[in-house]
Amino acid sequence: MLPEKVRLVLVGTEGEINLGFIARLAANFASDEVYLVKPAVDPSSEEVRRFAAHGAYMVDRFRVVESLEEALQDVELAACTSARVGQRSDVLRHPLTAREFAEEVAPRYRSVAVVFGRESVGLTREEIAQCHVLVTIPANPDYPVLNLSHAVAIVLYELWLARSTQRGHVHVEAANSESLERTYRLLEDLIDRVVDRERAPQVKVALRHILWRCPLTAGEAAAFYHLAKKLNRLAASCKPSS
Ligand code: SAH
Repeated sequence: MLPEKVRLVLVGTEGEINLGFIARLAANFASDEVYLVKPAVDPSSEEVRRFAAHGAYMVDRFRVVESLEEALQDVELAACTSARVGQRSDVLRHPLTAREFAEEVAPRYRSVAVVFGRESVGLTREEIAQCHVLVTIPANPDYPVLNLSHAVAIVLYELWLARSTQRGHVHVEAANSESLERTYRLLEDLIDRVVDRERAPQVKVALRHILWRCPLTAGEAAAFYHLAKKLNRLAASCKPSS
């Protein structure tokens, strides 16, 4: 399943430039909604619009709310973000990485909110406790804190990638190993016909790796099989060159 809705939630954002960049990112990665919990700046100022560039239309869609609780209404999964990872006993701060979140957890929910904290102090423990999971972007332990808009970029990018990859898996039938196997058998014959005997084993291994590693669709595998059949017939009708 895919998250049908990704809601970006920004708590107490303090910088207009950051807010502008985030509006742009929301457009870049097609976030469905942007909620601002008590922003510390005017969210539709000229400066915000300037930094939003062609994403300025997202500024008009900002929804300003009074509490995090309000911003998390109607979402199945709420994920907050932090650079700070807890010790063993501090379970509140046991995070998923942004990639684990995007690839393994978010797809199980129809609507997902990702919550980002203030530039100065991040999110409070009470705010983190209101979310279902904590997400972190692994970085240099000596300095893991990213600029707010940069952190938003990385998380939205991971969600975007996971959403588009899984969209492919949901809608397009993948090649099954039977169809890969029959294509491989044909190409193996072809290799035996046209490739030098010493090189053939290497080429066969490479072909196996390519066929099984690639996320081929069933249609692509069928086209490949067709081509392999034609090439094989052609090679069979040719006289050996030596
Ligand atoms: N001084 C604050 C820094 C906040 S940075 C603190 O110590 O928490 C602003 C926001 O950017 C954070 O609240 C978080 O939402 C996000 N952020 C910054 N670095 C991050 C990281 N490595 N992983 C996940 N989120 C991060």
